[in-house]
Amino acid sequence: MFRRLGERFRIFMYGRYGTDKLNFLLLCTGLVLSILSSFIEELAFLVIFSYALMIWCIYRMFSRNIAARQREAAAYTRFKKFFADRKNRYYACPSCGQTVRVPRGKGRISIKCPRCGQRFEKKT
Ligand SMILES: [Zn+2]
Repeated sequence: MFRRLGERFRIFMYGRYGTDKLNFLLLCTGLVLSILSSFIEELAFLVIFSYALMIWCIYRMFSRNIAARQREAAAYTRFKKFFADRKNRYYACPSCGQTVRVPRGKGRISIKCPRCGQRFEKKT
């Protein structure tokens, strides 16, 4: 019975995005906000944000628009790396979404994607 259920779930998830680091962050933040809002009366309004985050997380998981979800994940990765690494810049390849690292402060340069070979120009 569980095997059939698992099989059905697998079919249901086929072609859907699934989960990633951004979803994990959304879920964790949502849970923390929901716990805070239930214990601290002054923060009760946070429950709205916690639901919003968790609904967003579920929406991303079951989304069939995989390209859009990958762009969000790439944006999140760039956002994180911007704070971690100020010497380099990170761009997502416009054709395959691969994150490409280039040195900062070189002006306008042509970048070749290491994965698909696509060239694109960016200002560093
Ligand atoms: Zn590429």
